[in-house]
Amino acid sequence: MLIIMHSTATQTQISAIIEKADHLGLRAHLSRGFERTVVGVIGDTRPVIRSQFQGMDGVREVVPITKPYKLASREFQPDDTIVPVNHLRFGGDEIAIIAGPCSVEDRTQIIETAHAVKEAGAHALRGGAFKPRTSPYSFQGLGVAGLELLAEAREETGLPIVTEIMSIDMVEIATQYTDVIQIGARNMQNYNLLHAVGESHHPILLKRGLSSTIDELLMSAEYILSHGNRRVMLCERGIRTYETATRNTTDINAIPVLKHRTHLPVILDPSHSTGHWEYVNAIARAGIAAGADGLIIEVHLDPANAASDGDQSLKPEKFAKLVREAKAIAEAVGRSLAPVGELALA
Ligand code: PEP
Ligand code: MN
Repeated sequence: MLIIMHSTATQTQISAIIEKADHLGLRAHLSRGFERTVVGVIGDTRPVIRSQFQGMDGVREVVPITKPYKLASREFQPDDTIVPVNHLRFGGDEIAIIAGPCSVEDRTQIIETAHAVKEAGAHALRGGAFKPRTSPYSFQGLGVAGLELLAEAREETGLPIVTEIMSIDMVEIATQYTDVIQIGARNMQNYNLLHAVGESHHPILLKRGLSSTIDELLMSAEYILSHGNRRVMLCERGIRTYETATRNTTDINAIPVLKHRTHLPVILDPSHSTGHWEYVNAIARAGIAAGADGLIIEVHLDPANAASDGDQSLKPEKFAKLVREAKAIAEAVGRSLAPVGELALA
């Protein structure tokens, strides 16, 4: 339920609500928006419990949250969540572009690609060290050595790093080496992993499952949020349909639907959603026009010889064109690309 406070409510009155929730064995999440302060209370919120909050000082209204996801819903938090990733802000007016290879292959490849995507205007570097491959005989990634190379690429270029992990035992090391932890489509409903990253407080890029509905994606986000991590970004990466001309079908609808239902930033991955480099730019433009807060794009120096996903990887010059066009579309819909800044290295 949502406990909407009067605009004049004092800190003492707000604290009393949170204490009452604790006392009843419920979990309270405070959200201070521009216009109102709301205490979201999760747990047993039957009418008999709701009425106990109704009469408390400073309370304007107590309303049930109608959606199965609570913390992820716009009802809970009307204002957009901004996820800070070092100097970058995901989810505000500015659009950020993450780019890099599907897999980290070797030192030269990742360092040169990092420089190339930075030159072209990328804001962050992607690269997989742990690869969730359909076949056990396909390249599985370099593992921890790949994380070390990504960290080196960050040192050299100042680009924040986005990389996928597949197991709980990798959460700690990933928080040391990367700026954003990606949860891939195949692990969207790995609830133990969602629980673990929910306790990490590290920014998370949660990809939509191959055959998952929008509500299932939001329920997975809810797992992360409910364990205390509010830094969640969602990623539409295409869904399984009967169409075979493309690897997946980009659910462009998902972008405005998600923006309507949730306050979390929405990123589009037109590389996996199309599976062919020829279509990536067009769908990237469509995504920004539809309201995406960012893009994640696969870029390879030599796509024909890529260890994974070469068919959908752009060469750096094609990626530079995508960035220019993304900028034009962003401006046409009243937004802009994030400035390309340096990561403040610790
Ligand atoms: C990837 O980003 O390389 C990847 C494996 O993506 P997805 O989980 O969307 O298939
Ligand atoms: Mn890939």
